Amino acid sequence: MVAACSCINGRSRGSDRVFSKYAIGREWSHLANESFDAVVVGAGVNGAASAYHLVKKGLSNVLVVDKGVLAGGPTGASSAVVRQHYGHEVTARMAMDSLKFFQNFEELTGGHADFKTCGVVVVGSEDKLETVRQVVEMQQRIGINTGMVDREEILELEPDMFMEDIGGGAWEPGAGYADPVATTSGLMASALAGGAQAWYDTAITELLIERGAVAGVATTRGSILTDKLVIAAGPWTPALACSIGVDVPIRASRHPVLVFQHPSRRRPQHIIFDLNQIMYSRPEGADMTLVGTLDIAHSQDDADPDNFERQPSLDEIAEWGQMLMTRFPEYADVETRAGWCGIYEYSPDWHHVIDELPTARGCWIVCGTSGHGFKLGPAVGDIVSDLALGREPRYAVEDFSLARFSSGEPIANRYAETIIG
Ligand SMILES: Cc1cc2nc3c(=O)[nH]c(=O)nc-3n(C[C@H](O)[C@H](O)[C@H](O)COP(=O)(O)OP(=O)(O)OC[C@H]3O[C@@H](n4cnc5c(N)ncnc54)[C@H](O)[C@@H]3O)c2cc1C
Repeated sequence: MVAACSCINGRSRGSDRVFSKYAIGREWSHLANESFDAVVVGAGVNGAASAYHLVKKGLSNVLVVDKGVLAGGPTGASSAVVRQHYGHEVTARMAMDSLKFFQNFEELTGGHADFKTCGVVVVGSEDKLETVRQVVEMQQRIGINTGMVDREEILELEPDMFMEDIGGGAWEPGAGYADPVATTSGLMASALAGGAQAWYDTAITELLIERGAVAGVATTRGSILTDKLVIAAGPWTPALACSIGVDVPIRASRHPVLVFQHPSRRRPQHIIFDLNQIMYSRPEGADMTLVGTLDIAHSQDDADPDNFERQPSLDEIAEWGQMLMTRFPEYADVETRAGWCGIYEYSPDWHHVIDELPTARGCWIVCGTSGHGFKLGPAVGDIVSDLALGREPRYAVEDFSLARFSSGEPIANRYAETIIG
């Protein structure tokens, strides 16, 4: 059972847009001015990947609708780290397949994700290593190239790392990072080349439902008929679901990312997941380091995705700088080179929601990507396109059901206090 929608009078949390209440049973066809085999809401990485896979699986009459521009939401602000180090096996399998997609992006899409392989080192104190070991064992069992590393091996990888509190860690050589805009653009361009259309600056204002099944959408450009709807609208997804009476318990929080210049230009060469500082860093440009938090405690605010502070505060700059400097002391007194904030839309267990809405057959949502949904985009698009086409996905997607929250069966996280998943 999915919990009853808690929105008040159809006004969604985190948005000023007002949606009409239940549209079930109304006759919409006289309003429609276009018809598509499938409509995808949102031109972020998940919407673009969904369109890409729908087209690859034989559907050419696909429409992607975005109220803004391609990658104009959280996708465009993403740090775009692509790693497989997940404690949840289904997610690890999705990450493994998605990494292969990034490695073969040009061949698969004709575009460029600008994927750079640099490897990720997960480090932590002795008491954290049993969890790391369990994750690595599971990863090795499913075919991920990774292994445990001791202090000496970590120092060989990162000679300038402060090691006093580090007992060891894990090394995953295939990890890297991509350009989130180029990735989304490449996926979308491939879908468009296969016959899809994209309408930007066009908002979905209403979901049109007939006898419990999706019949179309109302947009700021007119109504559209379709019996397959994928809502990949990031933090705006709960508002759309709420408009047809479904409560999607996703919250939005503001997430700062800071970029620091290395003083001697010998910056860390790898992505670092630091379980003690609860932060991640990755190379940026030739001589800079990008830093973000992995700490769930940093995501307690309820941000409005249409109206939030996009500049990191001085306190955040100091705190993020301190985390980096604690692990790499050479960063003491360096200047911040850049910084921005994006929105994490996170679920109660910090894992995706991929499910059909219970009041709208044929309407699938992808949301709750919880600060780690960029890398999984290729696998998510594969899953959602299979579901929309009535095929069996290759992953155990029931783990991502909406009902897991109301039935008290959320995904159990091995790294409980972090967003690692
Ligand atoms: C700062 C930051 C760093 C991150 N770092 C990483 C990382 O290193 N690795 C990783 O894997 N993930 C990372 N993430 C998470 C990742 O970026 C997101 O999970 C992912 O981009 C979500 O993509 P999406 O397509 O689901 O949604 P979004 O990017 O939110 O796109 C949703 C789109 O839907 C559109 N839309 C919404 N409502 C409507 C409507 N009514 N009508 C029409 N269009 C609508 C919006 O305009 C938007 O373009 C990070 C996120 C942030 C913010």
